[in-house]
Amino acid sequence: MTQIPYKIHLTEDETPKQWLNLRAFMKNKPAPLLHPGTLKPATADDLKPVFCDECIKQELDDTSKYIDIPQGILEFYKGYRPSALVRAYFLEKALDTPAEIYYKYEGTNTSGSHKLNSAIPQAYYAKKEGLTSLTTETGAGQWGTAMSMACAFYGLNLIVYMVKVSAQQKPYRKYLMETYGAKVVPSPSDTTETGRKILEKDPNTSGSLGCAISEAVETAVKSDKCRYVLGSVLNHVLLHQSIIGLETKLAFDKYGISPDIIIGCAGGGSNLGGLIAPFMVDKLSGNSNAHFIAVEPASCPSLTRGKFAYDFGDTAQTTPLIKMYTLGSGYIPSSNHAGGLRYHGMNSTLSQLYADGFLEARSVEQTKVFDAAVLFAKTEGILPAPESSHAICAAVDEAKKAKLAGEKKKILFGLTGTGYFDMTAYAQYNEKTMSDYIPSDEDLARGFATIPQIDL
Ligand SMILES: *Cc1c(COP(=O)(O)O)cnc(C)c1O
Repeated sequence: MTQIPYKIHLTEDETPKQWLNLRAFMKNKPAPLLHPGTLKPATADDLKPVFCDECIKQELDDTSKYIDIPQGILEFYKGYRPSALVRAYFLEKALDTPAEIYYKYEGTNTSGSHKLNSAIPQAYYAKKEGLTSLTTETGAGQWGTAMSMACAFYGLNLIVYMVKVSAQQKPYRKYLMETYGAKVVPSPSDTTETGRKILEKDPNTSGSLGCAISEAVETAVKSDKCRYVLGSVLNHVLLHQSIIGLETKLAFDKYGISPDIIIGCAGGGSNLGGLIAPFMVDKLSGNSNAHFIAVEPASCPSLTRGKFAYDFGDTAQTTPLIKMYTLGSGYIPSSNHAGGLRYHGMNSTLSQLYADGFLEARSVEQTKVFDAAVLFAKTEGILPAPESSHAICAAVDEAKKAKLAGEKKKILFGLTGTGYFDMTAYAQYNEKTMSDYIPSDEDLARGFATIPQIDL
């Protein structure tokens, strides 16, 4: 048998020229977005004040199986793609496991995460449409950074509403975005009606993604040359992220490898949806037995403890309704949670796949996540993002299980980014001041109470 190299490479020619639209392969499609006023499926006209036209078209398209990646986007992708698919030989050795562990490494671009894969197309389409500005939110900061890079490249103005607690924990993220020319506003802010309302109720709030989204949408709809862009949750974002899975599958195919277990961390679902896309297509058609695992933080457990219901995407309840696993748009995760994966809901495609039993979900506590992060850093050398480390944690657990069972399982996980801006969290872990917070049923009930009661 040929020895599998440490890195499996694709050439530029071999990289995908189309994205894969997972929904088009599903018999049971995700429920449509609903207009919150009429409760009818949202139309392109409904979405037009908020999103770019091409993104709307992609968002509403659940039948085209593949969508061409425009040349102008492929050219930017070439700067940092294909990303490496790495065999984690050193981690395997440390775990003394018969399992083969692979990771797809999305952290090599300056934004430090997979987010750039969708930031580039969203900025590209906005520019093509003649828009001048975009607004967005950012939690941990990776999406804001990716959008800042994309907007600098295509010459667009950008306002980033950054969740207040992240802005405080990660000032260097803010400086990085500003270096690329973005305006960064800690959220909630007094620059929007929504922000002022939230501050009035709770002046010391640490902020949330839902709240930052409300502020960004409010600002975008005020101008006809400005639109809002979102880095996760929506299906057009999953579409763009399918590049991750497509490259991975092509690289595996070169060596005749098919992974048994595919693991991704899950915030709003974009990297997980992108990584699993082509493998899930095989599963849906009965051509694969692969097992898929979504890993979320115990402090924000939308799949494992949430409700499958129509809910708003934001705190101010202004977005279309999305049928998804949700903790309620009013849910605010505990501020001791170290960044990322804090969103109250989950992408609708992944939610449907989870409801239909195609996907397993697990939640893990953050100290255990950092145990895995540090093990990974020490063995593979890369300092992983806390978000990515949720996936590492599950991969390590699966490798240990394989050892006990004496099974040569092939485990793939998505290494979504690097953790250089998360040193406060690493410091807490190293100094043993990091704590875990698992919301009580009462905490969750308060969030559930904010899910709209609708009769369809
Ligand atoms: C944003 C982010 C995530 C989580 O977002 P998804 O949309 O669920 O993928 C995970 N890892 C990193 C590094 C991120 O920046």
